[in-house]
Amino acid sequence: MIILNGKETAKIITDEIAELVKKRKKEGKKIPHLAAILVGNDGGSITYINNKLKACEACGFESTLMRFDDSVKESIILNKIQTLNEDDNVDGFIVQLPLPKHIDETKVILSIDPIKDVDGFHPMNIGKMTLNLPSFVSATPSGIIELIRRYKIDTKGKNCVIIGRSNIVGMPLSILLSQNKEFGNCTVTLTHSQTKNLKEVCKTADILIAALGQPLFVTKDMIKEGAVVIDVGITRVEDKTKVNGWRLVGDVDFSSVAELTSAITPVPGGVGPMTIASLMMNTLKAMDLKEQ
Ligand code: NDP
Repeated sequence: MIILNGKETAKIITDEIAELVKKRKKEGKKIPHLAAILVGNDGGSITYINNKLKACEACGFESTLMRFDDSVKESIILNKIQTLNEDDNVDGFIVQLPLPKHIDETKVILSIDPIKDVDGFHPMNIGKMTLNLPSFVSATPSGIIELIRRYKIDTKGKNCVIIGRSNIVGMPLSILLSQNKEFGNCTVTLTHSQTKNLKEVCKTADILIAALGQPLFVTKDMIKEGAVVIDVGITRVEDKTKVNGWRLVGDVDFSSVAELTSAITPVPGGVGPMTIASLMMNTLKAMDLKEQ
């Protein structure tokens, strides 16, 4: 059984990007600039944003964080997005989700210029991705594909079962893995909360991807021997033995499942770091596109 080490792979990607950026700097060229909008004080969102900013630093990118109070008006966020759309110095930007209830997330996503939409959430990018045209692919699905690519996991003709159909993870992943290209060509089953006989469906998977947000949901009896298991879930669960009182748990019961698999991602240190590395790759791409 191989551990698909996202932390190590993300570090390799970050080093590769940092090398490119160093070279650009030496040549007097512009360095990539990622901006981020964060609304409110949600602990999880702050951690995600901080990790993204740290990754920018490791890559040698410029980064800007714009923070707003929970009560900020939707129009102020939309105006800020407009400013970022027009700012030539900013190559790409993200709006950390979720947003407070009084701000319409769809409106926010639609107002981002697709060429700066490094999160790949804009319908223009999702549409292009679906048609296998050049686009920004959202960071978690593209991070998973990159992990599969770096570990040379054979996907051709494999049965892939994905649990969870969200717009940011399961749905795009189901499209990418079913496309006729390298590290695609799977026969994909996209499951969700209404799927009947989920256990049996999962047992057919050569590649099982859990992205439902239910800690330790995937158990040994759902796994086909030799399957590749990718755990997207990250949930904070109470743990009094930890200084901060919590630990991160995936959607897969790693301790019982791992021995049955041929390869598996850990949590933490699997898909999470790959998501961030992917955002860095998208930011680099945004700058490249602008220069073309
Ligand atoms: P959402 O809550 O948006 O979607 C969850 C999906 O899982 C839905 O499609 C839902 O079905 C399905 N689901 C929920 N319960 C069950 C069940 N019992 N059986 C089958 N399907 C079920 O979640 P996200 O996609 O945003 O995130 C999923 C997990 O991945 C979370 O733990 C999140 O924290 C993590 N995540 C990790 C990232 C990373 O970088 N590692 C990035 C993004 C997310 P239905 O549609 O029917 O409601």
